[in-house]
Amino acid sequence: MSMKVFEYQLKKSIKRKTVAIKVHNKKVTVYAPQFVSNKHIQEWLFDKQVWVNAQLTKQHNIADSRQNPLKDKQILIFDSIVNIEFKQGTKSEVLNCNDSLLITHSSRVKNTSQKYQQLLEEYLKEQLTAYIEMRLAYFCAQMGEELPTSLKVAIYKRKWGSCNSKRELTFNLHLIGAPYHAIDYVIVHELAHLRHLNHSKAFWQHVEHFFPNYKASSTWLKKNSMSLQWVF
Ligand SMILES: [Zn+2]
Repeated sequence: MSMKVFEYQLKKSIKRKTVAIKVHNKKVTVYAPQFVSNKHIQEWLFDKQVWVNAQLTKQHNIADSRQNPLKDKQILIFDSIVNIEFKQGTKSEVLNCNDSLLITHSSRVKNTSQKYQQLLEEYLKEQLTAYIEMRLAYFCAQMGEELPTSLKVAIYKRKWGSCNSKRELTFNLHLIGAPYHAIDYVIVHELAHLRHLNHSKAFWQHVEHFFPNYKASSTWLKKNSMSLQWVF
């Protein structure tokens, strides 16, 4: 019997004990132990077809429209899809277990979806702020800049970041879903504004000097700006 399964990349390893599938960026990767035969893997995948196709459809929708974490039960964090479970618990909190999020609210909460939104956004803000603080320290050292006077992460409609003459920096919380290179680009872009408060040729040369591949990252952000946003 010939079985037609989806396209996938097979990664075998001696260390692995079990077969697993990962669907990411609309691509399927199958991880398997060295000793498992390809025929066995094919058979195993045959049973997983429905699930994989559902994941691929879901990810396709995510790329072209805004995310809806409450409905889709998932969100992009640093370019990876993270599953979320929402439920009532003993208190309101966000737990990160095995790369998925468990968001609970206490029984006292009246407006549960508003609470979920608040808890999720607080969590994402912590994650993004920690990453940006780490990278700011790195790029400030590279670029010979003092650390900025303040850093604010919030949701903005029309900007990824900003910088003013008081050396105050802001970053858009929606950057949390982007790959690291795109976030780094925004950081370097804003730090470059410490010397050039404009988008002159000198400004772009300064950016390019410290982030040679900036055009690719900037294009990535333009192309994916819709899918980095979310609605509740
Ligand atoms: Zn700018």
